[in-house]
Amino acid sequence: MIRLTGIERTFAVGDEMVHALRGVSLELAQGEYVSIMGPSGSGKSTLLNVIGLLDRPNAGTYELDGRDVTGLSDDELARVRREKMGFVFQFFHLVPRLSAEQNIELPMVLAGIAPAERRTRLDRLLTDYGLADRARHRPEQLSGGQCQRVAIARAMSMGPHVILADEPTGNLDRHTGQEVMAVLERLHQGGGTLVLVTHDPEIGSRAHRRLRMTDGAIVADEPSSQFKPGLPPESPANRPPGSRGAAA
Ligand code: ADP
Ligand code: MG
Repeated sequence: MIRLTGIERTFAVGDEMVHALRGVSLELAQGEYVSIMGPSGSGKSTLLNVIGLLDRPNAGTYELDGRDVTGLSDDELARVRREKMGFVFQFFHLVPRLSAEQNIELPMVLAGIAPAERRTRLDRLLTDYGLADRARHRPEQLSGGQCQRVAIARAMSMGPHVILADEPTGNLDRHTGQEVMAVLERLHQGGGTLVLVTHDPEIGSRAHRRLRMTDGAIVADEPSSQFKPGLPPESPANRPPGSRGAAA
């Protein structure tokens, strides 16, 4: 459903050209759970932004659900993005002056969803993400984990096919990070595609397919041989070798 071919992304910085992506080709099928790891500056966020239609490549083609989206106008791209993509970021990117509920509602307002339908979806999301008693709180009145749940609920409000998460646990303690991962993985269990950028090898190894980037290129693309379908990712059988957990 996602097919990138020969994607290049360069940034002009002063007199220099930074090659953030150097000819990346990648296919992602609906329902995949993929992690992207690699050193800082290797192009992970740039790739995620290209996949999520937040950024345009300088060269290459992008086919989404059988349609070439490379040549779409900004307005068309924004519409496709709203319909199909949900983003989750390390620093949540919530609007500080809006309540939890208003943050979650924002994409639906932008998409022109009628108020009654918005209310129905909001109530569902607030319940699903354990935020019903925090609906009127502003981000500064919420914990990091609650903020990330608001951000995930916002990402889910338009029923995206693809969730793109850039270091979603990077700003959370370990326990809260695990909770946020469980919430993200629910999307995948519901049939959605999950693409996760992370620095944390333990979190990266929960994915069923692991990409590694170096210097703007995908240098490894491997299925997670440890993953046992049908068992929760945190079960001992699904721990990567060498991880220090209860099973060791
Ligand atoms: P990662 O997420 O793996 O840390 P990025 O995708 O953010 O890497 O960045 C890849 C490279 O592109 C880096 O060298 C970074 O400095 C550069 N880069 C990313 N975004 C921009 C931008 N908007 N302007 C200039 N350079 C950028
Ligand atoms: Mg990054």
